[in-house]
Parts: sequence; C-alpha cells; structure tokens
Amino acid sequence: MSLAALGWTGRHDQDFAAHAGDGLVPGRVVGEHRTHYRVAIDMAELTATPTGRLRNNALQRSDLPGVGDFVALRLAADDGPATIEAVLPRTSALVRKAAGERRPQLLAANVDAVFIVTALDGDFNLQRLGRYLALVHDSGAAPVIVVNKSDLSLEAAGTIGQIAGMAPGVPIHAISARGQTGIRELEPYFDGNRTVALVGSSGVGKSTLTNLLLGHEAQATGEVRTHDNRGRHTTTHRQLFLRTQGGAIMDTPGMRGLELWVTAESIEPDFEDIEAFALECRFRNCRHSSEPACAVRAAIARGDLTAERLADYAKLGRAAGGGVR
Ligand code: GDP
Ligand code: ZN
Repeated sequence: MSLAALGWTGRHDQDFAAHAGDGLVPGRVVGEHRTHYRVAIDMAELTATPTGRLRNNALQRSDLPGVGDFVALRLAADDGPATIEAVLPRTSALVRKAAGERRPQLLAANVDAVFIVTALDGDFNLQRLGRYLALVHDSGAAPVIVVNKSDLSLEAAGTIGQIAGMAPGVPIHAISARGQTGIRELEPYFDGNRTVALVGSSGVGKSTLTNLLLGHEAQATGEVRTHDNRGRHTTTHRQLFLRTQGGAIMDTPGMRGLELWVTAESIEPDFEDIEAFALECRFRNCRHSSEPACAVRAAIARGDLTAERLADYAKLGRAAGGGVR
C-alpha cells in the first residue's frame, strides 16, 4: 500500500510538514485494540502506541488517535512498537457518548462519505433515517442514502420519492446487495482512495454490502454471525479495511447503531481532574488565579496537575457560581 492508497493527499503533506524534520514517518491508523493500534505506513503495517505526551495533552478521549486518523509516527530502533507522536487535523469525526459514560469516544476519523443503509423489507422508517442524516451531517462526512433489498419490494419508487422529499440534495441509491444490482453506482464514492463508513440498523445488509465492496468476505453476515450470551453481535475491534481496488471501508461496531451518537460539537472537554480539585477551593467561585486557599493551585504546586492543563481549562471560560462554600 502506498501512502496515496491509504487516502493520504496533498493536504496531509502540508499538515505533516511540521513533523517531517523530526524524523517522523506518516501513517494511518487502521486498527484500534485495547492495548495498541495498528498503523499502516508506506508499504507496511505495524503496531504502535501513543506517546505519554499525546495522552496527557488530550483534553478528552476523542482527542486520542482513533481508526482513520492520519498520524506522525516514530519508528522504534529495535523491533518494539512505534510511537504515535501526533494526530493530523481531521476532516471528519464520528464521536459517541454512551449513556452514563462521561467521556466521549472517537468512533472513526476522516470518513469522507457515510452510507446510511436502509432496507425495503418492512424495517423502513423515515424518521430514523432523518436522525441518521442529522448525525452524519454534523460529523463533517457526506451522507449517501443506500436503499437495500430493492429486490423485495415493488414500492421502491414510492419510498425513494419520500426519502428525496425529506433529504433534498442527498444522493440516493436503490440497490440489492444480495442480487448484486446497483453496486457499481457506489464505486465512485471510493474515487481518490476515499473512505466510506456504513451505518444503519441491524439486518439491513451492511455486512453483505461491505463484503461486496471489498471483493472478499471480511464480515460475517446475518446467517452465520455469532452472538455472545447477551445477544450482542461479537465484533472484535474497530477497523479500517483497505480495498485492493482503492479506497477504504470503515468498520466500527459502535457506529452501526444510532442510539449512542452525539456530535463532536456537543461534547465538552473533560476536566474532571480540575473539577475534583476545585471542590476543595475555599471559594465556590474560585477562579484559581490569586484567590486564597485555592486547591487547584495547590495541586499544581504539588505536581499533581500541570499549569498548562489549568490554562486549557481557563480558555474554556468556565466560571463557577458565586459565594463562599
Ligand atoms: P447487517 O446486520 O446490516 O450487517 O446485515 P447483513 O448483511 O448481515 O444482512 C442481513 C440479512 O439480509 C442477511 O440474511 C442477508 O442475506 C440479507 N440481505 C442482505 N442484502 C439483501 C438484499 O439485497 N436483498 C435481500 N432480499 N436480502 C438481503
Ligand atoms: Zn481554586
């Protein structure tokens, strides 16, 4: 795989220039595991972990590298893992905030188009489609509506008319993944080695379509899929499949459903650490600058918190309510 095949463009050359002098090499995250990443570089794929500095500077979990990110890597002198030194600016970010989970999670970065897959098999729901459209729109990726299982319904034209009315300007493709019709219409979305993600309810045919677009069976489809004892689909990890024909398909388990998404903009950076120290400040409206008995500055003095982190927090302009505790 050349860098261009990974989706690297002139824009990335510019973003990477600042790191090139440091002896760093360009790459793209293609796999995210619990303990490490897999990163594709020019002609190879290797294991990598983020540097401590990158980890500490991440204001929130979604600032950490994720699948699809273009990164600057330092190769190990021995055959140990490489280190991810920097994440290049993203063109799009699909982010999730799970219920009860404070920290947002990056599901996929630098997705060019999202195929919102729906099926003409009784599952069809215009309102849900509208919610998917809004989510994709906020991510920075381009929405494309794929109406699958067109072999099952004679009502396709009517349904497509309804969709078009709701989503003016959004491309709509009626296909049959099982019958392999209409698939060629989807090829241009991969032109220039672009990256596509598929979303939609379970059973609409995402795995079947993914396998067709990859030209091999990368995904177990409905008939053969295994489930764990909680009835969940047992998917392994987030992954970017590079197509031999060019372009890539993002497979991220958490992105398939709809319920858990939020947009990148709606997430506030996470300063739990500072907020925890601030509970001990004498004044409830302490600005942690020159107030007496400030527990945040005390934490910095002890080395439990960095001054830079407080500066990032201050930039957000968080001011507490007034009054002495
Ligand atoms: P996923 O859950 O969205 O990944 O859906 P799958 O790809 O696993 O497909 C679910 C079921 O729908 C399987 O039984 C597929 O064979 C079937 N299926 C997929 N595409 C089509 C299609 O175009 N027409 C029909 N009739 N069935 C399809
Ligand atoms: Zn304070």
